[in-house]
Amino acid sequence: MTKSVVSSFDVDHRRLKEGLYLRSTYKIDDSRCVLSWDLRFCAPMTHHPLSSGTVHTIEHLMAYYLRLDEQIGTSIVSFCPMGCLTGFYLSTMNDVTAEQIKEALRKVYDKVFPLKGKEDIVGLNEIQCGNPALYDIDGANEAMRKYVEETIK
Ligand SMILES: [Zn+2]
Repeated sequence: MTKSVVSSFDVDHRRLKEGLYLRSTYKIDDSRCVLSWDLRFCAPMTHHPLSSGTVHTIEHLMAYYLRLDEQIGTSIVSFCPMGCLTGFYLSTMNDVTAEQIKEALRKVYDKVFPLKGKEDIVGLNEIQCGNPALYDIDGANEAMRKYVEETIK
């Protein structure tokens, strides 16, 4: 396979398991680079993908609460859903480790989950979001439980 300009296209998705992976690094200068992490909630082709509402719910909560984390918050560049609905992309600066990300995810999970209703989803309104009717409380609770308690424990 020829090397692609998109780093995730160079990964054989048939072999991927759920987990947290450092996928690529983008060098800015001699001391700084941007790390792209895959938060793979589902093993491709093995598990059912997440629902769109689940992905949207988790995106809102993680994009917000991870940035409040004392250790990694200011190092976060972006938190985005994978279009294939099997997980999320987290971009950070190079001063964070996989263990710190796991710790931050556990802290958000303990603080925010299980969600009781849509009032718990930050930014889910017509001013701050493009599709506030799209959310899934039960799906997000179950996906986060599985990821934090079983996958990255
Ligand atoms: Zn939104």
